[in-house]
Amino acid sequence: MHFFLILKEMKVLKFGGSSVGTPERILGVKKIIEAQSLPCVVVVSAFQGVTDALNNIADLASGGNNEYIGLLEEIISKQKGFGEILAGSNSVGSRLSEAIDVIAAELKETYRGIFLVKEVTRHSLDKVLSSGERISSLVISTLLEGSILADSQEFIKTDLVSGTQLVDFNLTNQLIRKKFNKQDSLFVVPGFIASNLKGETTTLGRGGSDYTAAIIAATLKAEVLEIWTDVDGFMTADPRKVEKAYTIESLTYAEAMELSHFGAKVIYTPTLRPVYKENIPVMVRNTFNPGSKGTIINHRSADNSRSPIKGISSIDHIDLITLQGPAMVGVTGTSARLFGALARHNINIILITQASSEYSITFAVSPSDSVIATNSIISEFEREIALNNELKIVTEKNLSIIAIVGEKMKNTPGISATLFRSLGRNGINVIATAQGSSELNISVVIRNENLKKALNVIHDGFFLSPFKEMNLFIAGTGLVGSSLLKQLEKQAEILLKDHGLKVNILGITNSKKMLINKKGISPGAIRETLKNEGEPAELSEFIHHIKKLNLRNSVFVDCTADEVVAESYIEILEDYISVVTANKIACSSEYSYFQKLKEIAAERGVRFMYETTVGAGLPVIKTINDLVLSGDKVYKIEAVLSGTLNFIFNEINENFPLSQAIRKAKEKGFSEPDPRVDLSGTDVVRKILILAREAGYRIEKTDVKVNMFLPDECFKGDLNSFYKNIEKIDKEFERKRSKIAGEGKKWRFMATLDHGNAKVELVSVGPDHPSFDLAGSNNIVLLTTERYKELPMVIKGYGAGAEVTAAGVFADLMRVVNV
Ligand code: ADP
Ligand code: ASP
Ligand code: MG
Repeated sequence: MHFFLILKEMKVLKFGGSSVGTPERILGVKKIIEAQSLPCVVVVSAFQGVTDALNNIADLASGGNNEYIGLLEEIISKQKGFGEILAGSNSVGSRLSEAIDVIAAELKETYRGIFLVKEVTRHSLDKVLSSGERISSLVISTLLEGSILADSQEFIKTDLVSGTQLVDFNLTNQLIRKKFNKQDSLFVVPGFIASNLKGETTTLGRGGSDYTAAIIAATLKAEVLEIWTDVDGFMTADPRKVEKAYTIESLTYAEAMELSHFGAKVIYTPTLRPVYKENIPVMVRNTFNPGSKGTIINHRSADNSRSPIKGISSIDHIDLITLQGPAMVGVTGTSARLFGALARHNINIILITQASSEYSITFAVSPSDSVIATNSIISEFEREIALNNELKIVTEKNLSIIAIVGEKMKNTPGISATLFRSLGRNGINVIATAQGSSELNISVVIRNENLKKALNVIHDGFFLSPFKEMNLFIAGTGLVGSSLLKQLEKQAEILLKDHGLKVNILGITNSKKMLINKKGISPGAIRETLKNEGEPAELSEFIHHIKKLNLRNSVFVDCTADEVVAESYIEILEDYISVVTANKIACSSEYSYFQKLKEIAAERGVRFMYETTVGAGLPVIKTINDLVLSGDKVYKIEAVLSGTLNFIFNEINENFPLSQAIRKAKEKGFSEPDPRVDLSGTDVVRKILILAREAGYRIEKTDVKVNMFLPDECFKGDLNSFYKNIEKIDKEFERKRSKIAGEGKKWRFMATLDHGNAKVELVSVGPDHPSFDLAGSNNIVLLTTERYKELPMVIKGYGAGAEVTAAGVFADLMRVVNV
């Protein structure tokens, strides 16, 4: 009874490799330990990186590569260095140093043996790997005055069962009870290490220090098992893959076991079994942030989160093996034979799924087990395979498994729907799926190249995120492109702070240079950055990079007036990347192309936005769209859509001729890069075409009647000869203008759509027309609809200029992410 009372107060703390990665960190660990009441057991891992290094050295040595010697010296002196720094050069320090030397000498001997026989046996590997924990526990116990170093080889006993070292719990429990029966003591124990019944060193598998600690905690019926590591607790996903992952307050044993089975490395999978049986709570805590609450794992989880799932985990690399063929159908015992064969070869099966037709059965294994698994099935089903296609084995590689886990899933419908919707919308194909009958877990198998994206979209789908992210790839650094970058830069902080939107600019290209940087490109001085850091521009390469990055919420922004860029939208949208464009070419090309773009976007669940192709930042397209969607019918559109032409007609007077007004429009950035696109009416034709299509009319460019106001000759030759030609007609033009001015009228270049018939022409309007007072480069759009019949709806304002166009693109971007 007395014995039991002591143990009830016992705490078991385990510090992982990352917690003891440097002497400074070890001093932090010391502080945490010194704050504990006694009795207390401290289990330690090898110093960070040591087990990996010992493993690599074993590979080199067994491969006959004598470079192993140098690396071995290095890793030994690193560990000795830790001891020297922490214990000092006094007598304690020199005793420690001698003790390390003894282990080091043994280690060198074992490696030499491996090198000479060019083979590493399980036993010799265990022996060398164990040295990491032997040394770390020695150093740490030296540092903790009055502590007792307890060698786990003496009390963690393993037995080889069907090729796997399993803990002999009966014996281990007895030995542990005997070893730790001292009151008020601080024990330091090397994790990971054990020994077999012959007394040879064994290990508990990579990450096994967690298990050591759990076995001790369970046997001693500890009050708590604390796993101290380098993150704030068990998190909703692997923080190295999902930036937005956050700490889970509480988990049940079953949930934690499921998450760790499917790859959450924070707890080694077998760890929870012994503590679960004894109902010992487990805390996961951060050595580098001891004040944080961490995660508690016990029988019942206090769950305040609104999400129906607790966490997401993944196994990065698996192979999927499918056994299929008529021999499977209606034949009992096939599964038993299959899994029997696999079990005889110690193959660990990660997931199983079977089609209800029984035509096939599929299971997932680690790639390192794949060949043995396949061979064992081939020999088991030799007869069926030999019989013409009665049975076939298909192996798929480069796959990953993702599991979503949570006890609440049981009572919540629609979880699979959310899971598959998140994946589907982002173009991630699910290759296989399985749901445990406990409904604690749903697993999906996907291509490895999609893993990071999939984890993030699933996380976004199930957990409230502190912020959303949008990844931009911008084509064009001309007036609109650079204005957009400036606006994005200016607004970035507010978007993040007030709207929870993080905008990442990951790629920029112009006609000369391009740059992709997954860490983000600073929008300031972009042309210099491109010049200095960019590579020669190649649009197809640029798009290839975007696809390869494979990020969710990716948007391609077209701030060019380029035909080739416009032709690439299909490819981009097909890859689940939204397109926001200020380039009119795609929307005013053949109707079928435009329609196809819209269809692909709808199918893929991404956005195709082009508000700025008409009226710059004015909400023209959005308004027509809203009207049509809400059941209104657009009868007539009358519009001055060329800011350039309006500017020109407003500027001309007896002292300022047409040619100069054109130059001025170009200088101010109102005109297209080539002002002839405006003057020929081409630009307005494109715009009325876009509006007509938005209003539901299926028309082509050739359907728009154009009445030109400049003679054809003006458009022949290059830009210089164009200006010269215009100068020749300046006078004649002014004569016509002053004539209508005398009648109290003004010129407006008007686009009209009347019951599906479109035309563009120069008209003279009197003061009673709404466009008469249209100043500067403004646009006006009059919409006569079924609802707005007597008085048309009027949209009016700046219709040209880089600033407002960029602002319109910006607004489209915000609509893509629904800010
Ligand atoms: P230790 O050295 O303390 O044993 P590990 O590296 O074995 O630490 O485990 C901690 C690491 O596990 C974290 O740094 C984190 O990168 C990773 N990890 C993976 N999945 C999760 C998860 N769901 N929650 C927390 N950490 C996780
Ligand atoms: N040092 C061992 C490993 O790296 C055990 C552990 O750290 O848990 O696998
Ligand atoms: Mg670990």
